[in-house]
Amino acid sequence: MDEALLAQLTSSQRKAVSHRDGPLLVLAGPGSGKTRVITCRIAALVDSGVRPYNICAITFTNKAAEEMRQRAAALGPSGGAHISTFHSLCVRILRRYAEAAGIHSNFSIYDSADQSKCVKQAVKDCGLDGTNFPPARMLDAISTLKNKLIDAEAFQERAEDFFSRTLSQVYTRYQQILAERNGLDFDDLLMKVAFLLETDSAVCGELSNRFKFLLIDEYQDTNHAQYRLAKALALPHGNICATGDPDQSIYRWRGADIRNILAFEKDWPEAVVVKLEENFRSTAAILRAADSLIARNTNRKQKALVAVRTDEGKVCVEGHEDEAAEADAVARQVDALLSQKVPAGQIAVFYRVNAMSRALEEAFVRRRVPYQVVRGVEFYNRKEIRDLLAYLKVLANPADEVALLRIINTPTRGIGKVTVDRVKAFAVSHGLTLSQALARADQVPEVSGAARTKLMAFSCLLDKLRRDIVGPVAPLAERVFRESGLEQSFKGTGQDGQDALENISELINAAAAYDQQTTEPSLLDYLQQIALFSDTDAYEATSERAALMTLHAAKGLEFDHVFIIGLEDGLLPHERGNGDGDELEEERRLFFVGVTRARINLYLSYARYRTVRGQFLRTVASPFLFELGLDSITQKDEEPEDDEDAFGGYGRRPRLASRPVPAKQAEPEFAPGQLVRHKTFGLGRVRKYADMGANSVVTIQFNTGQTKSLLLQYAHLTRV
Ligand code: ATP
Ligand code: MG
Repeated sequence: MDEALLAQLTSSQRKAVSHRDGPLLVLAGPGSGKTRVITCRIAALVDSGVRPYNICAITFTNKAAEEMRQRAAALGPSGGAHISTFHSLCVRILRRYAEAAGIHSNFSIYDSADQSKCVKQAVKDCGLDGTNFPPARMLDAISTLKNKLIDAEAFQERAEDFFSRTLSQVYTRYQQILAERNGLDFDDLLMKVAFLLETDSAVCGELSNRFKFLLIDEYQDTNHAQYRLAKALALPHGNICATGDPDQSIYRWRGADIRNILAFEKDWPEAVVVKLEENFRSTAAILRAADSLIARNTNRKQKALVAVRTDEGKVCVEGHEDEAAEADAVARQVDALLSQKVPAGQIAVFYRVNAMSRALEEAFVRRRVPYQVVRGVEFYNRKEIRDLLAYLKVLANPADEVALLRIINTPTRGIGKVTVDRVKAFAVSHGLTLSQALARADQVPEVSGAARTKLMAFSCLLDKLRRDIVGPVAPLAERVFRESGLEQSFKGTGQDGQDALENISELINAAAAYDQQTTEPSLLDYLQQIALFSDTDAYEATSERAALMTLHAAKGLEFDHVFIIGLEDGLLPHERGNGDGDELEEERRLFFVGVTRARINLYLSYARYRTVRGQFLRTVASPFLFELGLDSITQKDEEPEDDEDAFGGYGRRPRLASRPVPAKQAEPEFAPGQLVRHKTFGLGRVRKYADMGANSVVTIQFNTGQTKSLLLQYAHLTRV
């Protein structure tokens, strides 16, 4: 193996990198080089005579895959190695083995908006009332089942109570709808491949023979379906290498199961386990804070992590009056860093929920600080983008009814709902897809001559566009945009139309970049890349702009200076996390992931008041702030308005809700246990009451499941 490559590694890393055959588990904390180990292992395997073609590396995002591809290429010849996310791997397998999997190879990938249309239809088709059976809840339940590899038939057999039986009906109908439209949702991609590998030994044999070495990064966030398919793929040869950190598992809500990493040694008893105990990323101050924080989780194994860096770094906390002041302070500090010649790309701001970026963006614009908001999915959710993509989807997969219904009268071409319903009914009665029915529009009964002409014209338009869909995507997208009439429909519609046109040209530019970077560009492949695009993928590693993103999107990344805002109870930990201990631990892990992205300095902040769903509410500082062992780090205070709100000095406890104030009333008005009603949040029970006179704070668990801390004087509560 290349000596120069090995020289850059510690002895434990070297052990993992040069391990050749058989299972390997790398269990280590953040910044210890797990991702680097995977990248180097690709080079080392090739160096030892393995063909790149026989290597399959799985990363958590497409972006990470791209980066790994580049890094591996820099270390040696690795072209031909398959490096992608689980989902991309599955799409590739399913296109190749469509027949064996019982699907068509030109399937569409349905995203959450498409899914929600299909599930609404399924609920309706089952004769259920959407209020009692909210489609979103049904979809969640279906997704959970799929992640556990319980398909509609299997679920039908075990559904016993009323809710399960109803869910089973909806699940079955939902799958039928997807099949009719030749669509697969994200969970199907995994489930179909897992089943294919487990039931078709020929396919499984072929694939495990192709992928003789399987490497999986971020293994702690695999779900059951991913776990099963990885196991099936590696079973014939046992060459599976997983790296992960149970303390960074943050996707439980999406079905990730921390037990997968813990079960690795049981599944592969001969596994070599390597622990990496040095952190190359962060300064000691940051690591101490991270360590002290994560030690509060009870469901974990203690891990040692020693800082390799010896330079000075700091962790500081600032309190601000409200979200605008907080955002402004962040922009000001970022600006100050820029004037010290820190590259903007080395600065990131993390928050718990996307909505929090708005105040930041305003402040950054005001101070002219260059930034990027890492929120890729949103771009693809814009109406004009979805419209154009729907045309492309219909061209690639004529059975895609969701896309077809979207464009049948977009731009307006005089095809009304009644006409569409008649075509749909005609399709159902003749066993046709909607697109086949359209082509026979002249036979659809009860449709006027004028409507028929319009339907035929639309069908002809699709045929014409479909004639030339092979090859590069950008020229096709441009042609579709023009000939569909979409372009014309945006002209002369003022600023909104202008914005839409600009977004479309951004999409076409991105398609052109795809055409250039891909050896054999194809519409299907392009659509699949977009469908599998996640928030983190939108992150552009650039030295010119600071990055704003959610804590979830920050996974795997690193920056010299990290700001985490909104350290308030209910926000971080999110109110979702107040419910049970497991969720609170997951929120803590999420904060831990954020903290450990920082290389040099970490800036934490909270606002004393925040506007939540239109209400200006008094906040309570996050309990996590007090778990960082703050006395060992520099702590800076924004000039407090009044002493009471100050986030105290070293080691002092905050005196927000918990400050004992001489009681003015003999009995608190809202004792714990008291049932109350709030105008917006409805009924709830008081959990905590901090009597601070005019600033009294009452914490209420509402029946909606949310827990809120409200300033009594503004909450307008009534006792029930
Ligand atoms: P995370 O858990 O956050 O994903 P990780 O364990 O994957 O972290 P890497 O991202 O691989 O860690 O490495 C963290 C940083 O440390 C990177 O900048 C990497 O280049 C650097 N690094 C890793 N190993 C070494 C080493 N032996 N010598 C110097 N730098 C290293
Ligand atoms: Mg990593």
